[in-house]
Amino acid sequence: MTSTAEYKELEAKYYMQVVRRMPPVLVRGEGTKVYDNDGKEYLDFTAGWAVLNLGHSHPDVTKAIQDQAGKILQMSNLFYTVPQLPLAKTIVDNSAVDRVFFCNSGAEANEGAAKLARKWGKLKLNGAYEIITTLNSFHGRTQAMMAATGQPHYQDNWRPLMPGFVNVPYNDLEAIKAAYKPGMTCAVLIEPVQGEGGVIVPSEGYLKGVMDFCHENNILFMLDEVQTGMGRLGTLFGYQRFEGVEPDVMTLGKALGSGAPLGAFTCKEFCSVLEPGDHGSTFGGNALTTAAGAAAAKVMVEQDIPEKSMKASAHLFGKLNALKEKYTFIKEVRGMGLLVGLEMTETIAGPTVADCLEHGLLLNAVRPNTLRFMPPLTVTNEEIDKAVEILDAALAKTSAK
Ligand SMILES: *Cc1c(COP(=O)(O)O)cnc(C)c1O
Repeated sequence: MTSTAEYKELEAKYYMQVVRRMPPVLVRGEGTKVYDNDGKEYLDFTAGWAVLNLGHSHPDVTKAIQDQAGKILQMSNLFYTVPQLPLAKTIVDNSAVDRVFFCNSGAEANEGAAKLARKWGKLKLNGAYEIITTLNSFHGRTQAMMAATGQPHYQDNWRPLMPGFVNVPYNDLEAIKAAYKPGMTCAVLIEPVQGEGGVIVPSEGYLKGVMDFCHENNILFMLDEVQTGMGRLGTLFGYQRFEGVEPDVMTLGKALGSGAPLGAFTCKEFCSVLEPGDHGSTFGGNALTTAAGAAAAKVMVEQDIPEKSMKASAHLFGKLNALKEKYTFIKEVRGMGLLVGLEMTETIAGPTVADCLEHGLLLNAVRPNTLRFMPPLTVTNEEIDKAVEILDAALAKTSAK
């Protein structure tokens, strides 16, 4: 067996040094638990980065992948392939959109949506091509999505940025109205709740206001549901938690493949403007990844997992709000469903996460002063209790320093 130290040497020598890795070498997972190379157990409140919404190694997903691997892995989209077709139907049957295109990641899903929006602008708006996005957003790391992502950290080393994206403050309808230029703007792309931005929930009426403004001006209202989709906010798609809100275009990724790399961009019929030859992908909608996605979506829908996760959500919020009573440096507990942020007045998120890790809990410091919780939707109350106990002990230490 390769030792943990040997793995770390391999990483240091051969891997591109683009991430500061956390210490454990993780080799196995089941449900909310993962195990490192030395057999130590952790509670995974990162869920493979909001990907494993059904938990690690869900038996239905594992079986679907195994079965599919023995049948056919890949064919070109020039042919009809399964199970991408039944999965597309499941998405359409359970949402406001009518058409689906599968790709391999969240960034690619947003790229596809941006292409669709530009074609819309070309056909309907005299060549309008500008897309309004928000500051503090995250839409991926491709050239275009760096321009869409309104955070200097993702932009400054790679200028000039691709033209055609305007970043305005989030949760500010007037800013979108001010940035809108007739004949120039073709779409707005926003997250229903900003995830990487620190779990920012918009105020009542914002999304609906943006949607209405888009429709008044015949521009597309596009929701990036890469993080909020597939049950994360307590409904199958995040927008379903907001009264009267329906996207014209919706993008998916992360949990869609339940661990297999799968993304999608979807749209309503009226704006389905892409035609043969306009877009494509070798691996997009691949049999293996959509087998995983189809199995996961079936479990999600048939067992009402998003709805059930609201009990775990209430339990987690209850526990974290109790911590807020205890520690005056906890400023706010916010979020929706099982996408939860805990903001502090001190910049101790990093050391807190490190201490939690040591004691068997994987958490994310989404901002220097903010922790993010995104456990599997199947997390139990006992696992939440244990996680918050580990966090409580960590905070007692890190806040005293
Ligand atoms: C993670 C994320 C992306 C990017 O997805 P990748 O698969 O990493 O390309 C885009 N948008 C949002 C909201 C995300 O959370």
